[in-house]
Amino acid sequence: MFCPSCGNDDLKVIDSRSQQDAIKRRRACISCGYRFTTFERIEKRYPMVRKKDGSLEKFILHKIRTGLENAFRKRKISGDAFELLIHEIDAEIASYTNPEIESSDIGTLILAKLSSMDQVAYVRFASVYCEVNSLDDFLALLSFGDNSMQTKHSER
Ligand SMILES: [Zn+2]
Repeated sequence: MFCPSCGNDDLKVIDSRSQQDAIKRRRACISCGYRFTTFERIEKRYPMVRKKDGSLEKFILHKIRTGLENAFRKRKISGDAFELLIHEIDAEIASYTNPEIESSDIGTLILAKLSSMDQVAYVRFASVYCEVNSLDDFLALLSFGDNSMQTKHSER
């Protein structure tokens, strides 16, 4: 890194603060005394998403946000709780160590969260994400929801 003022690379850190998602550093140029701020952040690397048809696509958080907005339409959820949910999903996918993730695994991850939050949102999201085409599919979906709830309870 070079001083933005004089181009010298002889810099010192005069202050360092940890923020929620970054480390903020105040730096000073030893040569000219110029002071500036840098931010250090964790680089997010998402796995590629393997779709049901076998093709790969980039992970786009916005798609999940849109899907969840639809699922929670007219449901009671605070903006904070919704953002936290998005943040958790984002963090879990970003921490995935494989270079690829199955789209169905993303769906399962999200459904596991929804099942303990809002059953209506859960069913809405599942019916879109899991391509429910018949009543049997739908019933299977509901029993999956019940099972995951029971597992949660029995873990306590
Ligand atoms: Zn300088």
